[in-house]
Amino acid sequence: MKQALFWKPLKGRKVKCQLCPRFCNISEGKTGYCGVRQNQKGRFYSLVYGRPCSFNTDPIEKKPLFHFAPGTVCISLSTVGCNLGCLHCQNWEISHPEAVFGREMSPEEVVKYAKDNHLPGIAYTYTEPTVFFEYALDTMKLARKAGLYNVWVSNGYINPEPARKAARYLDAINVDLKGDREFYKKVCAVPDHKPVLEAIKLFKKEGVFLEVTNLLIPGYNDKEKQIQELVLWVKKNLGPDTPLHFSRFYPYYRVKDVKPTPAETLDRAWETATKSGMHYVYVGNVAGHPKENTYCPKCGEIVIKRTGYYIEFVKEKCEKCGEKIPIAGEKWMK
Ligand code: SF4
Ligand code: SF4
Ligand SMILES: [Zn+2]
Repeated sequence: MKQALFWKPLKGRKVKCQLCPRFCNISEGKTGYCGVRQNQKGRFYSLVYGRPCSFNTDPIEKKPLFHFAPGTVCISLSTVGCNLGCLHCQNWEISHPEAVFGREMSPEEVVKYAKDNHLPGIAYTYTEPTVFFEYALDTMKLARKAGLYNVWVSNGYINPEPARKAARYLDAINVDLKGDREFYKKVCAVPDHKPVLEAIKLFKKEGVFLEVTNLLIPGYNDKEKQIQELVLWVKKNLGPDTPLHFSRFYPYYRVKDVKPTPAETLDRAWETATKSGMHYVYVGNVAGHPKENTYCPKCGEIVIKRTGYYIEFVKEKCEKCGEKIPIAGEKWMK
């Protein structure tokens, strides 16, 4: 347990959390919506500091991050808790558990594990790093000092000040842009998606290497108009070189009555984005799909060949036409 950042005391020993746009007002003894930040006698604490519920190693491609240190394997770390309440959550056992759980592992121990095992970086992932902010931040600071990379896989539901603070130690981020306002209202239990859009722009502005994922759920966010709007927003605000992943949905948690995303829908989204001028568009969650590869936007040559998480080759420059392919984090690929 550690004193939380980003909160203020209110009258009557209440506190207001200022970490994410929910701005929970929390009475003594209670936790906020995410379930991991608690008011104890008018002070506010993180219950998940140094208590990861998941600690694995994963290929960076699994995040997915396709243009950041491709082919590297990193620690993947998460605690319980999340500030959204997505009906389709694949990690609901850890995003909204009945009680906090996790092993003891300090930031020092996480970084030591990476160094001892020659792993180049750490991904803060599976649930939502925002809600284990203090633990992530201290770990990121040590990791940066030790020469490791830090990447977040985030829902982007974070306030500007903490986002800016995290950005200082972040090398890359994949943000889920789940859909339009209606989608966030209906599926994620928040009134609006604007804070997510603002956070994405902020991470970009702060110089964090950024990729975007959109999980396509039939009947929820797969209309042509919805896809087109999302693509145009990404292109306008983040630029055509931003890697954009359309991911396949499988029935889960409270969305069990919907079939997996048809291949045609994913292909259609890929076409829409590519025709709109996005240069690096991917289809995800479909093993062996040819649209997992990176194609040169100028001549169509394969420049990064992937099969699942296996990388056959990476060309930072197209051998056929000389086009430079945007890849960050090269120093960790050696
Ligand atoms: S981080 Fe948690 S406690 Fe804080 S506002 Fe968001 S949901 Fe509420
Ligand atoms: S943001 Fe991710 S982890 Fe959180 S509830 Fe939604 S799908 Fe689950
Ligand atoms: Zn080329």
